[in-house]
Amino acid sequence: MTLSRSQSAHGQSAQSRSGQSLSILGATGSIGRNTIDVVSRLPGRFRVEAVSANRDAEGLAQIAIEAGARLAVVADPDAYAALKAALSGTGIEAAAGQAALVEAATRPVDRLMAAIVGAAGLAPTLAAAARGTTILLANKECLVTAGTLFMATARAGGATILPVDSEHSALFQVLNPVQALNPVQVLDPDRLKAVETVTITASGGPFRTWSAEQIAEAGPREAVRHPNWAMGAKISVDSAGLMNKGLELIEAHHLFAIAPERLAVVVHPESIVHGFVSYRDGSVIAQLAEPDMRTPIAYSLGWPDRIPAPTKRLDLAELGRLTFETPDLRRFPALGIAIAAMEAGNGATTVLNAANEISVEAFLSERIRFPDIAKIVENVMDRVARTGIGEPASLDEALELDRTARDVARALVGEHIATAG
Ligand code: NAD
Ligand code: MG
Repeated sequence: MTLSRSQSAHGQSAQSRSGQSLSILGATGSIGRNTIDVVSRLPGRFRVEAVSANRDAEGLAQIAIEAGARLAVVADPDAYAALKAALSGTGIEAAAGQAALVEAATRPVDRLMAAIVGAAGLAPTLAAAARGTTILLANKECLVTAGTLFMATARAGGATILPVDSEHSALFQVLNPVQALNPVQVLDPDRLKAVETVTITASGGPFRTWSAEQIAEAGPREAVRHPNWAMGAKISVDSAGLMNKGLELIEAHHLFAIAPERLAVVVHPESIVHGFVSYRDGSVIAQLAEPDMRTPIAYSLGWPDRIPAPTKRLDLAELGRLTFETPDLRRFPALGIAIAAMEAGNGATTVLNAANEISVEAFLSERIRFPDIAKIVENVMDRVARTGIGEPASLDEALELDRTARDVARALVGEHIATAG
């Protein structure tokens, strides 16, 4: 186990109780619960320090009690009273609000699972990166909103970033860096020279075989019905329109310092091959696993070791065949919009993420139709770009640009509703 700098800085071993200490941001979510599931099957190996949620006080309290956490934090101050009541007599500390969330993220631990959804995860995860924490990064929106800043902060703080997203875990395993530590690059430039392309796979989502007309009529229930993965609502909608794959290209671009033109997406409906790297000698090396997030979660929890994960074992003969196809950018324009944002850089992806979060929220609450998501995102990018986008160089700049884009997106959601009604 690599000791994180935060431990040595505090002159104490975070392992003094028993096992490795672990905090989980977004503990009540899909990734959070899968993390608890992996950890709870390995008694003595991990010890949970802090857990957080947005406002589900009861759910969080239950997780905190079962996991034996020391601190539970709700981001929403209105949920504090309920959390305090649910934890009374347990000895678990309850706290609420943004400062408490940052405190949960920066308590010295061996590993931090960063699994908040959306740009809301940026401030606490960035604070952890600055302290040199070993971060198991599920919150891809961190990198889409402020990837350059995030990776530079991690490097300067001596943080270790271990990807949790299945495709990035796959690439990480294939590229097999000696260190995931910054300032040592995940990939050294000489090894990168031998890489021709880096490909992530997409299941294609629930609308893969649907016509554009059918997609236009789809509601939230259809969009979140993912064929292979059970995930939170936001990422499920992102997956249905292939926006998720666009966000993941941007994520890979920052994590592995790979130029946009060397990144590719292929649709693979079975979700068995998660990512592969093509080398200049013609070799292609891939990672395969059943679609179950507990595999990449276990990899990030154990790295550089491998710990057991209670997942179905892959049986290729039983599967018989694996299929691949080219993504259809006409029916799934969000992917093309995200690629353009990645190529533009310079704050474009901050705007992309913010506009997407607002549009997905509006779609989930049935205020706009599915194709409006991509239209609004593209429109916001055009409008905000006209005012001149700069690459966010600080958390404040990232949040400011994020806010501007959200305001424009909200106004456009309003216009869409007005014209539709
Ligand atoms: P989810 O919606 O199931 O859970 C989100 C968690 O974040 C919850 O604990 C929620 O309380 C918390 N949260 C929400 N808004 C918050 C806010 N404003 N402030 C503080 N906390 C807040 O989401 P998920 O599916 O677990 O996804 C989490 C992250 O992991 C996302 O970035 C997603 O893209 C990424 N990811 C998820 C999966 C998956 O299989 N679910 C796979 C790959 C990557
Ligand atoms: Mg993924």
